[in-house]
Amino acid sequence: WVEQETPQPNEAVRVYIRGRPLLERDITIGCYSLLAVQPPSVLHFTHPTVRCAGGRFATKTYQADGVFCDDATSEEVYRAMNLSASVEKCVREPGSKFSLIAYGQTGSGKTYSTTAIEEYIVEDLFTTEGIRNASSTISLSIFELQGNSCRDLLSNPALAPVTITTTSSQELSYGNLSTLSVKSKDEMLDSIRTAKGLRITRSTLKNDTSSRSHCIVMIDIRNVETNRHSRLQIVDLAGSERFKDVTRNNAERVKESIEVNKSLSALKDCVRSRLSDKTTFTPWRSTKLTTVLRESLDRRSKGTVIILACISPSPVDVEDTSNTLKWVIPFQ
Ligand code: ADP
Ligand code: MG
Repeated sequence: WVEQETPQPNEAVRVYIRGRPLLERDITIGCYSLLAVQPPSVLHFTHPTVRCAGGRFATKTYQADGVFCDDATSEEVYRAMNLSASVEKCVREPGSKFSLIAYGQTGSGKTYSTTAIEEYIVEDLFTTEGIRNASSTISLSIFELQGNSCRDLLSNPALAPVTITTTSSQELSYGNLSTLSVKSKDEMLDSIRTAKGLRITRSTLKNDTSSRSHCIVMIDIRNVETNRHSRLQIVDLAGSERFKDVTRNNAERVKESIEVNKSLSALKDCVRSRLSDKTTFTPWRSTKLTTVLRESLDRRSKGTVIILACISPSPVDVEDTSNTLKWVIPFQ
């Protein structure tokens, strides 16, 4: 724990940090927050036990494109990210690719944040000119990635397996994935809620599967005239917490945890490669997650990528918070 300066944010991939407030469960055990925001983009993160020479607790300072904590609302986060502009670009410029990726340990606020942000996106989408005058149409798919499998969250019966292949022209193709043509804001929000509800129900029945799978909400906006589409993806990643939190004697859980780590680590390599000047080998095909996100992450797509690092303010989560901040720092 040495205090450090962090580099300036860059343009290609934007990074935002959101610390959730202390929850009832943190407060009852006497936790206090380790986070302090210096608006709009600096975060001070105090270590709960490590002290520096002067005797005070060691603090690290992080600079991102935007930093939020405590009482910051999802709407503020949405506005600060300027997502309205990204939505508008998807409608106005067919072929645009955009992804918002929420990263963080289980319980850090990924689902809370992405769910709220989706609502603002949908709201904005249906008020754009191109959608109002029907020169573009919208379709929706929602799926879950876990290890090597992909499951459809909009299918009937639920959770039908989906195949993902890359065609010879490097186009992604989803086999057997439901694509819902949506005409209104309410229809879209209802479908998203149903799919997420399914994830929650299944998690309760099956030992919190949602924290070990990636959930992708995929919105395609097709321009009627050109027949080209833009794609907007909102990704609620599996929990980034380290292995220690997983029941050790459960072989299935151990395997899942290894797979999650592998995909998050491949994602990190792919984001780094997007930011690097050199054309190095990028392991796009090493995991399903990076295969799916290649469309917006690959430099050639000129897509926009926003990473939302979700963190807990609580001393009990200090290691995972520190790891999350380390994960996003190379992207600045
Ligand atoms: P994750 O999806 O990362 O596992 P959740 O989104 O489920 O985490 O959040 C964990 C808990 O914290 C939930 O009870 C959620 O309502 C609460 N929470 C998360 N972020 C916030 C926030 N910004 N404000 C208030 N409560 C929050
Ligand atoms: Mg979640």
